[in-house]
Amino acid sequence: MVPPMNHPGDKNVTTRFAPSPNGLLHMGHAYSALFSARHAQDRGGRFVLRIEDIDTTRAREEYVRAIAEDLRWLGVSWQEPVLRQSRNMAAYQDALRKLRDLGVLYPCACSRKDIRQAIAGKPHWPCDPDGAPLYPGTCKGRDVARHDVAWRLDMDKALSALGAPLTWQEEGSGPAAERGIIAARPQDWGDVILARRDIGVSYHIAVVVDDAAQGITHVTRGQDLFHASAIHRLLQRLLGLPEPVYVHHRLITGEGGRKLSKSLADTSLRALRAAGMSPGELKRRLGF
Ligand code: GLU
Repeated sequence: MVPPMNHPGDKNVTTRFAPSPNGLLHMGHAYSALFSARHAQDRGGRFVLRIEDIDTTRAREEYVRAIAEDLRWLGVSWQEPVLRQSRNMAAYQDALRKLRDLGVLYPCACSRKDIRQAIAGKPHWPCDPDGAPLYPGTCKGRDVARHDVAWRLDMDKALSALGAPLTWQEEGSGPAAERGIIAARPQDWGDVILARRDIGVSYHIAVVVDDAAQGITHVTRGQDLFHASAIHRLLQRLLGLPEPVYVHHRLITGEGGRKLSKSLADTSLRALRAAGMSPGELKRRLGF
Protein backbone atom coordinates (compact mmCIF):
# COMPACT_ATOMS: atom_id res chain seq x y z
CA MET A 1 0.00 0.00 0.00
CA VAL A 2 1.10 3.54 -0.69
CA PRO A 3 2.12 5.36 2.49
CA PRO A 4 0.55 8.78 2.94
CA MET A 5 2.77 11.56 1.63
CA ASN A 6 2.72 15.18 2.52
CA HIS A 7 3.49 17.81 -0.03
CA PRO A 8 2.35 21.38 -0.62
CA GLY A 9 -1.09 21.70 -2.08
CA ASP A 10 -2.23 18.45 -0.51
CA LYS A 11 -5.60 19.83 0.38
CA ASN A 12 -6.22 20.44 -3.32
CA VAL A 13 -5.97 16.74 -4.00
CA THR A 14 -8.89 15.29 -5.95
CA THR A 15 -9.13 11.59 -6.71
CA ARG A 16 -11.80 9.58 -8.47
CA PHE A 17 -13.35 6.14 -8.85
CA ALA A 18 -14.57 5.60 -12.41
CA PRO A 19 -16.41 2.28 -12.83
CA SER A 20 -18.15 1.20 -16.03
CA PRO A 21 -21.72 0.06 -15.24
CA ASN A 22 -21.65 -3.10 -17.30
CA GLY A 23 -21.70 -5.52 -14.40
CA LEU A 24 -21.74 -5.72 -10.62
CA LEU A 25 -18.80 -4.36 -8.66
CA HIS A 26 -16.40 -7.01 -7.34
CA MET A 27 -13.63 -7.07 -4.77
CA GLY A 28 -11.20 -5.41 -7.18
CA HIS A 29 -13.54 -2.46 -7.52
CA ALA A 30 -13.98 -2.32 -3.75
CA TYR A 31 -10.20 -2.11 -3.37
CA SER A 32 -9.96 0.62 -6.02
CA ALA A 33 -12.79 2.68 -4.50
CA LEU A 34 -11.37 2.36 -0.96
CA PHE A 35 -7.84 3.15 -2.20
CA SER A 36 -8.97 6.25 -4.11
CA ALA A 37 -11.20 7.53 -1.31
CA ARG A 38 -8.45 7.03 1.26
CA HIS A 39 -5.85 8.72 -0.92
CA ALA A 40 -8.01 11.87 -0.91
CA GLN A 41 -9.05 11.56 2.71
CA ASP A 42 -5.47 11.19 4.01
CA ARG A 43 -4.64 14.49 2.33
CA GLY A 44 -7.80 16.33 3.27
CA GLY A 45 -8.83 16.33 -0.40
CA ARG A 46 -11.91 15.47 -2.45
CA PHE A 47 -13.03 12.13 -3.80
CA VAL A 48 -15.45 12.04 -6.73
CA LEU A 49 -17.35 9.40 -8.67
CA ARG A 50 -17.62 9.05 -12.43
CA ILE A 51 -19.87 6.60 -14.22
CA GLU A 52 -18.07 5.53 -17.40
CA ASP A 53 -21.13 4.64 -19.46
CA ILE A 54 -20.18 5.72 -22.98
CA ASP A 55 -20.54 2.15 -24.20
CA THR A 56 -24.30 2.11 -24.63
CA THR A 57 -24.10 -1.46 -25.93
CA ARG A 58 -22.98 -2.66 -22.49
CA ALA A 59 -23.95 -0.10 -19.82
CA ARG A 60 -27.14 -0.77 -17.85
CA GLU A 61 -29.10 1.51 -15.51
CA GLU A 62 -29.50 -1.26 -12.92
CA TYR A 63 -25.70 -1.44 -12.61
CA VAL A 64 -25.48 2.34 -12.14
CA ARG A 65 -27.86 2.01 -9.19
CA ALA A 66 -25.96 -1.01 -7.87
CA ILE A 67 -22.65 0.95 -7.91
CA ALA A 68 -24.07 3.64 -5.61
CA GLU A 69 -25.68 1.07 -3.31
CA ASP A 70 -22.58 -1.09 -3.08
CA LEU A 71 -20.33 1.89 -2.37
CA ARG A 72 -22.66 3.11 0.38
CA TRP A 73 -22.69 -0.38 1.91
CA LEU A 74 -18.90 -0.29 1.84
CA GLY A 75 -18.94 3.07 3.63
CA VAL A 76 -17.39 4.97 0.72
CA SER A 77 -18.83 8.44 0.22
CA TRP A 78 -18.12 10.80 -2.64
CA GLN A 79 -18.63 14.45 -3.43
CA GLU A 80 -21.45 15.41 -5.76
CA PRO A 81 -21.98 15.88 -8.61
CA VAL A 82 -21.44 12.43 -10.09
CA LEU A 83 -20.27 12.72 -13.69
CA ARG A 84 -22.18 10.52 -16.14
CA GLN A 85 -20.14 10.15 -19.31
CA SER A 86 -23.22 9.40 -21.41
CA ARG A 87 -24.35 12.98 -20.63
CA ASN A 88 -21.02 14.51 -21.55
CA MET A 89 -20.72 13.37 -25.17
CA ALA A 90 -20.56 16.93 -26.55
CA ALA A 91 -17.34 17.56 -24.60
CA TYR A 92 -15.71 14.46 -26.15
CA GLN A 93 -16.84 15.53 -29.64
CA ASP A 94 -15.29 18.90 -28.97
CA ALA A 95 -11.96 17.31 -28.06
CA LEU A 96 -12.11 15.10 -31.16
CA ARG A 97 -12.77 18.17 -33.28
CA LYS A 98 -9.68 19.86 -31.82
CA LEU A 99 -7.57 16.82 -32.67
CA ARG A 100 -9.01 16.70 -36.17
CA ASP A 101 -8.14 20.40 -36.57
CA LEU A 102 -4.59 19.60 -35.47
CA GLY A 103 -4.48 17.04 -38.29
CA VAL A 104 -3.67 14.09 -36.00
CA LEU A 105 -6.81 11.99 -36.64
CA TYR A 106 -7.79 9.97 -39.69
CA PRO A 107 -10.92 8.01 -40.55
CA CYS A 108 -10.63 4.22 -40.64
CA ALA A 109 -13.10 1.85 -42.23
CA CYS A 110 -11.32 -1.39 -41.28
CA SER A 111 -13.19 -4.18 -39.53
CA ARG A 112 -11.38 -6.51 -37.14
CA LYS A 113 -11.35 -9.04 -39.95
CA ASP A 114 -9.69 -6.55 -42.33
CA ILE A 115 -6.94 -6.01 -39.75
CA ARG A 116 -6.48 -9.74 -39.19
CA GLN A 117 -6.19 -10.26 -42.93
CA ALA A 118 -3.71 -7.40 -43.35
CA ILE A 119 -1.33 -8.95 -40.84
CA ALA A 120 -1.97 -12.60 -41.71
CA GLY A 121 1.26 -14.45 -42.39
CA LYS A 122 3.31 -11.95 -40.40
CA PRO A 123 4.01 -13.87 -37.20
CA HIS A 124 6.23 -11.17 -35.72
CA TRP A 125 3.73 -8.38 -36.13
CA PRO A 126 4.08 -6.10 -33.06
CA CYS A 127 1.41 -6.00 -30.36
CA ASP A 128 0.38 -3.24 -27.98
CA PRO A 129 0.94 -3.53 -24.19
CA ASP A 130 -2.46 -5.27 -23.90
CA GLY A 131 -1.41 -7.88 -26.45
CA ALA A 132 -3.53 -6.68 -29.39
CA PRO A 133 -1.81 -6.37 -32.79
CA LEU A 134 -0.91 -2.80 -33.77
CA TYR A 135 -3.05 -1.29 -36.50
CA PRO A 136 -1.25 -1.88 -39.84
CA GLY A 137 -2.12 1.61 -41.13
CA THR A 138 -4.32 0.42 -43.99
CA CYS A 139 -6.54 3.54 -44.01
CA LYS A 140 -3.81 6.04 -43.24
CA GLY A 141 -3.40 8.50 -46.11
CA ARG A 142 -6.37 6.93 -47.93
CA ASP A 143 -9.43 8.79 -49.08
CA VAL A 144 -11.95 7.21 -46.69
CA ALA A 145 -15.57 8.40 -46.38
CA ARG A 146 -16.14 10.27 -43.12
CA HIS A 147 -19.31 8.53 -42.03
CA ASP A 148 -19.69 5.13 -40.40
CA VAL A 149 -15.97 5.01 -39.63
CA ALA A 150 -13.71 4.93 -36.58
CA TRP A 151 -11.21 7.76 -36.05
CA ARG A 152 -7.63 6.84 -35.29
CA LEU A 153 -4.79 8.86 -33.88
CA ASP A 154 -1.96 9.32 -36.37
CA MET A 155 0.70 8.43 -33.82
CA ASP A 156 3.66 9.62 -35.91
CA LYS A 157 2.09 13.02 -36.50
CA ALA A 158 0.99 13.31 -32.86
CA LEU A 159 4.50 12.54 -31.64
CA SER A 160 6.09 15.00 -34.00
CA ALA A 161 3.71 17.71 -32.71
CA LEU A 162 5.19 17.29 -29.22
CA GLY A 163 7.89 19.63 -28.01
CA ALA A 164 9.27 18.49 -24.67
CA PRO A 165 9.68 14.78 -23.86
CA LEU A 166 6.51 13.11 -22.62
CA THR A 167 6.61 11.78 -19.06
CA TRP A 168 4.33 11.24 -16.10
CA GLN A 169 4.80 11.21 -12.39
CA GLU A 170 3.93 7.84 -10.88
CA GLU A 171 3.27 7.87 -7.15
CA GLY A 172 1.86 4.36 -7.06
CA SER A 173 3.57 1.62 -9.05
CA GLY A 174 3.38 -0.06 -12.42
CA PRO A 175 3.22 -3.83 -13.00
CA ALA A 176 7.04 -3.98 -12.97
CA ALA A 177 7.28 -1.72 -9.89
CA GLU A 178 7.83 1.39 -12.04
CA ARG A 179 7.68 4.54 -9.93
CA GLY A 180 8.78 8.18 -10.09
CA ILE A 181 9.15 9.96 -13.42
CA ILE A 182 8.09 7.56 -16.18
CA ALA A 183 9.07 8.10 -19.82
CA ALA A 184 5.78 7.74 -21.72
CA ARG A 185 5.85 5.53 -24.81
CA PRO A 186 2.53 6.12 -26.58
CA GLN A 187 4.11 4.75 -29.76
CA ASP A 188 3.82 1.27 -28.21
CA TRP A 189 0.06 1.53 -28.85
CA GLY A 190 0.26 2.52 -32.53
CA ASP A 191 -2.62 4.36 -34.19
CA VAL A 192 -5.21 3.88 -31.42
CA ILE A 193 -8.93 4.40 -32.00
CA LEU A 194 -10.15 7.64 -30.41
CA ALA A 195 -13.68 7.49 -31.79
CA ARG A 196 -15.26 4.08 -32.13
CA ARG A 197 -17.43 3.43 -35.15
CA ASP A 198 -20.37 2.24 -33.01
CA ILE A 199 -20.44 4.91 -30.28
CA GLY A 200 -18.48 7.80 -31.83
CA VAL A 201 -16.12 8.21 -28.83
CA SER A 202 -13.64 6.08 -26.89
CA TYR A 203 -12.44 5.46 -23.35
CA HIS A 204 -9.14 7.25 -24.02
CA ILE A 205 -10.70 10.52 -25.15
CA ALA A 206 -13.42 10.49 -22.47
CA VAL A 207 -11.03 9.76 -19.61
CA VAL A 208 -8.68 12.66 -20.33
CA VAL A 209 -11.50 15.14 -20.92
CA ASP A 210 -13.22 14.09 -17.68
CA ASP A 211 -10.11 13.91 -15.51
CA ALA A 212 -9.59 17.55 -16.47
CA ALA A 213 -13.28 18.51 -16.11
CA GLN A 214 -13.49 16.99 -12.62
CA GLY A 215 -10.22 18.63 -11.57
CA ILE A 216 -8.55 15.29 -10.86
CA THR A 217 -5.07 15.91 -9.47
CA HIS A 218 -4.31 12.22 -8.75
CA VAL A 219 -5.52 9.53 -11.15
CA THR A 220 -5.98 6.58 -8.80
CA ARG A 221 -6.69 3.30 -10.61
CA GLY A 222 -5.54 -0.28 -11.16
CA GLN A 223 -2.20 -1.28 -12.65
CA ASP A 224 -3.98 -2.75 -15.69
CA LEU A 225 -4.21 0.85 -16.96
CA PHE A 226 -0.59 1.80 -16.19
CA HIS A 227 0.64 1.60 -19.81
CA ALA A 228 -2.47 3.36 -21.15
CA SER A 229 -1.32 6.43 -19.19
CA ALA A 230 1.14 7.07 -22.04
CA ILE A 231 -1.79 7.63 -24.43
CA HIS A 232 -3.55 9.79 -21.84
CA ARG A 233 -0.48 11.96 -21.35
CA LEU A 234 -0.16 12.39 -25.12
CA LEU A 235 -3.80 13.46 -25.43
CA GLN A 236 -3.47 15.85 -22.49
CA ARG A 237 -0.51 17.49 -24.18
CA LEU A 238 -2.27 17.75 -27.57
CA LEU A 239 -5.44 19.14 -26.00
CA GLY A 240 -3.68 21.50 -23.59
CA LEU A 241 -5.14 19.77 -20.51
CA PRO A 242 -3.48 19.80 -17.07
CA GLU A 243 -1.14 16.96 -16.14
CA PRO A 244 -2.33 14.91 -13.16
CA VAL A 245 -0.14 12.67 -11.00
CA TYR A 246 -0.79 8.95 -11.53
CA VAL A 247 -1.23 6.54 -8.65
CA HIS A 248 -1.67 2.99 -9.95
CA HIS A 249 -2.48 0.32 -7.40
CA ARG A 250 -2.10 -3.45 -7.30
CA LEU A 251 -4.84 -5.63 -8.72
CA ILE A 252 -6.91 -7.91 -6.57
CA THR A 253 -6.99 -11.39 -8.03
CA GLY A 254 -9.23 -14.35 -7.35
CA GLU A 255 -8.25 -17.84 -6.27
CA GLY A 256 -5.18 -19.07 -8.13
CA GLY A 257 -4.39 -15.53 -9.29
CA ARG A 258 -7.21 -15.43 -11.85
CA LYS A 259 -8.31 -11.98 -13.00
CA LEU A 260 -11.57 -10.85 -11.39
CA SER A 261 -14.25 -9.99 -13.87
CA LYS A 262 -17.72 -8.56 -13.68
CA SER A 263 -19.04 -11.77 -15.18
CA LEU A 264 -17.80 -13.76 -12.19
CA ALA A 265 -20.80 -13.31 -9.94
CA ASP A 266 -19.16 -15.16 -7.03
CA THR A 267 -16.84 -12.30 -6.15
CA SER A 268 -19.41 -9.53 -6.59
CA LEU A 269 -19.95 -7.36 -3.54
CA ARG A 270 -23.63 -8.40 -3.74
CA ALA A 271 -22.75 -12.06 -3.46
CA LEU A 272 -20.32 -11.47 -0.59
CA ARG A 273 -22.92 -9.41 1.25
CA ALA A 274 -25.59 -12.07 0.65
CA ALA A 275 -23.18 -14.66 2.03
CA GLY A 276 -23.03 -12.65 5.26
CA MET A 277 -19.78 -10.73 4.87
CA SER A 278 -19.76 -7.38 6.66
CA PRO A 279 -18.19 -4.26 5.14
CA GLY A 280 -15.66 -4.27 8.01
CA GLU A 281 -14.61 -7.83 7.25
CA LEU A 282 -14.24 -7.05 3.54
CA LYS A 283 -12.12 -3.96 4.27
CA ARG A 284 -9.88 -5.98 6.57
CA ARG A 285 -9.43 -8.62 3.89
CA LEU A 286 -8.45 -5.95 1.42
CA GLY A 287 -5.98 -4.45 3.86
CA PHE A 288 -7.90 -1.33 4.91
N1 GLU B 1 -13.84 2.58 -16.36
C1 GLU B 1 -12.61 1.89 -16.16
C2 GLU B 1 -12.89 0.54 -15.53
O1 GLU B 1 -13.99 0.31 -15.01
C3 GLU B 1 -11.64 2.65 -15.29
C4 GLU B 1 -10.98 3.74 -16.03
C5 GLU B 1 -9.97 4.57 -15.25
O2 GLU B 1 -9.92 4.49 -14.00
O3 GLU B 1 -9.25 5.33 -15.89
O4 GLU B 1 -12.03 -0.30 -15.55
